[in-house]
Amino acid sequence: MFDTLSDRLTSVLQNLRGRGRLSEADVDATAREIRIALLEADVALPVVRTFIAAVKERAKGAEVSGALNPAQQVVKIVNEELVKILGGETRRLNLAKNPPSVIMLAGLQGSGKTTLAGKLARWLTTQGHTPLLVACDLQRPNAVNQLQVVGERAGVPTYAPEPGNGVGDPVDVARRSIDEAKRAQHDIVIIDTAGRLGVDEEMMRQAANIREATQPDEVLFVVDAMIGQDAVNTAEAFRDGVGFTGVVLTKLDGDARGGAALSVREVTGQPILFASNGEKLEDFDAFHPDRMASRILGMGDVLTLIEQAEQVFDKDQAEAAAAKIGTGELTLEDFLEQMLAVRKMGPIANLLGMLPGAGQMKDQLAQVDDKHLDRLQAIIRGMTPAERSDPKIINASRRARIARGSGVAIREVNDLVNRFYEARKMMQQMAGRFGFPGAARGGS
Ligand code: GDP
Repeated sequence: MFDTLSDRLTSVLQNLRGRGRLSEADVDATAREIRIALLEADVALPVVRTFIAAVKERAKGAEVSGALNPAQQVVKIVNEELVKILGGETRRLNLAKNPPSVIMLAGLQGSGKTTLAGKLARWLTTQGHTPLLVACDLQRPNAVNQLQVVGERAGVPTYAPEPGNGVGDPVDVARRSIDEAKRAQHDIVIIDTAGRLGVDEEMMRQAANIREATQPDEVLFVVDAMIGQDAVNTAEAFRDGVGFTGVVLTKLDGDARGGAALSVREVTGQPILFASNGEKLEDFDAFHPDRMASRILGMGDVLTLIEQAEQVFDKDQAEAAAAKIGTGELTLEDFLEQMLAVRKMGPIANLLGMLPGAGQMKDQLAQVDDKHLDRLQAIIRGMTPAERSDPKIINASRRARIARGSGVAIREVNDLVNRFYEARKMMQQMAGRFGFPGAARGGS
């Protein structure tokens, strides 16, 4: 769903890569690009304004971090602001202390309400609950039957008025369903209400009456994410007409621009609890603002990676190592220190797995072996401090000693030393190209 937005944001942020510093003009230009990307994705204007203002202020406020360069800091800020717009913390369902809890669904016809009732019921059973579906859409022909069908697929019973007793009063059905839930020991009641193609007063009144009669623990507003800007207007109408405590986004699998998802929370002030992304009952999950944000930024879980890096890397040590890379003075001691810091963050394959695009290189990742790093560490540890800071002195007899001491073949010690020289040279060249401190520009 967020493909276009995701592509746009990713390329805007990529343009910042390799910059040593960001000027105010850089920040302004980036903010302008992000603004266009959001507007094109159909995000509501007030939401775009709030978002851009926050990103600009923070990016200019130079939040200095030892582990991140300016471009990474902007990525971090954009991500954090996205999470905020999407609601911050994951919000869980509020359930009653004394069952049954009542969850009422409201939304336009076609928003995916009935499908959602089945998905939610199924999901709740996987969490150990025993829900009862309640058919209170008594206007649309076939609505009751449709709910019964999804109920059966979800393995959850449906409470509905007896056929042949006239149309029935939805408020009355809702009220009676709670007695039925108590009797049959269902701990949650999910009430499906009538929807219309457009917002209308009678529907609102009926939903408000059901709410009044059943005092739900949650009223979930179900909204089709593909309806774009209209989602915001509809949400406001439901907020004023019925009131709701949470939002469910449906059809996130569609190819629309996704602005609804980014606007609804901020505009209505109510959190998004669930997201539906397909027609099958399993295509449904709790909504996590942080995961959605990283999906939008096409980032894998780079942010977790950045946060972990901030925790394990000592700013001064990292800067000292960077300076040595530039001047070609990096030693095996520095190499060991950096390797130990990286490894504090967890198994290497996991770290690499958090990088964007990692999904496509699963096979290669499976071969990354931490045991190899254990051996490298053992070899370096087997060296004297003098050898670590000046590997040139490692002659044949020293190699034999190191190999013996660290339990590896002499060939492996040779490999490590040779590779270290190659890597040091390569890093120095790259440092020159990227303007590392101490490095000659253009590399050598
Ligand atoms: P209701 O009128 O609000 O009860 O909506 P329905 O549950 O009948 O859904 C309307 C249509 O949307 C049906 O064809 C559903 O199969 C489809 N639908 C519901 N949720 C999703 C979803 O998450 N993704 C997709 N692609 N289709 C959905």
